[in-house]
Amino acid sequence: MSENRVVEGRMVTPQKLAELIEDDSVMDTEGIEDADRQCPECGGDVLSVGYMPGITEFVTGYKCQDCGWSETDR
Ligand SMILES: [Zn+2]
Repeated sequence: MSENRVVEGRMVTPQKLAELIEDDSVMDTEGIEDADRQCPECGGDVLSVGYMPGITEFVTGYKCQDCGWSETDR
């Protein structure tokens, strides 16, 4: 499940999606999944991706496919 997905009109890899959410580089990522929830800003579909921003931390990030909204489970 590491296929690329379209986010805000651009094709992104799991790595790129995680970097958009984190606004920084990340060490490692899992695949992109559908989060089964809707964006609180625009009602669009939300994707999730698990990633490691550093060696000691694992974060699940959420990003709207249609607008700039994102959050993490921190
Ligand atoms: Zn949105």
